[in-house]
Amino acid sequence: MNDKQKLRYSRHLLLPELGVQGQEILLDSRALIIGAGGLGSPAALYLAAAGVGQLDLADGDAVELSNLQRQIAHGTQDVGAPKVASLQHAIEAINPDVDVTSLATYLDSEALSEAVAKADVVLDCTDNFPTRFAINRACVDRAVPLISAAAVRGQGQIAVFAPRGPCYRCLYSDESATEDTCAERGVLGPMLGVLGSWQALEAIKVLADMGQSLAGRVVLFDALAGEWRHMNLPKDPKCPVCAKY
Ligand SMILES: [Zn+2]
Repeated sequence: MNDKQKLRYSRHLLLPELGVQGQEILLDSRALIIGAGGLGSPAALYLAAAGVGQLDLADGDAVELSNLQRQIAHGTQDVGAPKVASLQHAIEAINPDVDVTSLATYLDSEALSEAVAKADVVLDCTDNFPTRFAINRACVDRAVPLISAAAVRGQGQIAVFAPRGPCYRCLYSDESATEDTCAERGVLGPMLGVLGSWQALEAIKVLADMGQSLAGRVVLFDALAGEWRHMNLPKDPKCPVCAKY
């Protein structure tokens, strides 16, 4: 770490649980962030500010005016631009230490598996079940920790799925399920800030092996009631995705 980095990350270096050694680990780490919207914006910005050295961004969407109520990496001037380009621009403005790779596409299963294999941690910041199941399968097969979050209306959740632990498929057994989307049901914007920031926090904890991650637990967030509920998630011995590991 050079002098500028020691100053930039000084508030991390002061933390006994992180320190110089933990910050060096973050600088050498690679995170894959799938989805550059409401969750992916705060998650990526906080990981960039924290000095996670390589961020791979994947999203096939372009910025729309209706995104700006919650997708805080994008500005009015970015409408029409690829979300990954806009997010990359915002990351580079915060921290030039970070190498960013932008994939302006929806990853098919082969590309997804390859991208996951390169990562030390994966953040699922997408908004639909089929993609979440595909990301989970790739993370289980490649033994890469997965930080997952979701929100719609005033309800959200976050979970960490560690290799050989319970996986997303243990939590949701019906792969054909449909769900309410934000486009249909709406969502309170700051909820995504809370959950996306928490995804960044959990990713940093996993990377630097700090504290106790949410692995094996799911947290349900009721924004309107102001309540968090923690549930333990057991591994499903019959899970078609993770039982063989
Ligand atoms: Zn499972």
